[in-house]
Parts: sequence; C-alpha cells; structure tokens
Amino acid sequence: MNQQQFENFTASSLYCEKCKAAMPVRERLLLVLPDREIFDYLCTGCGSSVGRREITAGEKMLSQAVERRRPRRRTVRQLTQ
Ligand SMILES: [Zn+2]
Repeated sequence: MNQQQFENFTASSLYCEKCKAAMPVRERLLLVLPDREIFDYLCTGCGSSVGRREITAGEKMLSQAVERRRPRRRTVRQLTQ
C-alpha cells in the first residue's frame, strides 16, 4: 500500500545537542501504523535525530479539519443613536 500523500508541514526548528543550537529539521516518516504515524526529525546540520513525533489518525483528521475551517465572519452591528 502506497501512502505517500503527506502534506508538507511547516518546517520547524528543534534544539540539536550536537550543533548546540535550534536547527531546522527534516521530517522523515519512520513508521506507519494503522492508527498512527511516527515521524523522525533530523537535524539538517549534522543529520542526527533530534526528535520524534507520533501523529494519531484522530489528530491528523483534527488538524485537517481545523485547517479547512474558515474563520467565522463576524457580524458587526452598528449602533445608531
Ligand atoms: Zn545538528
């Protein structure tokens, strides 16, 4: 099963102990499970793993729903005296 339809998350920075600085990271899909995906974050400076993240299917759906939701239009009522 090919599941290569991943959206580009905005690149974030994580603290790298080797570089001793917050470095931009590369996201690498490590493992796909039926209910979650595990991502590995690699430092773009030295290539070492600086973090890991689990995204559950529920979370993924939720974040997509939030992105899709449009800001609600606020009705501004003008008060006339
Ligand atoms: Zn590094």
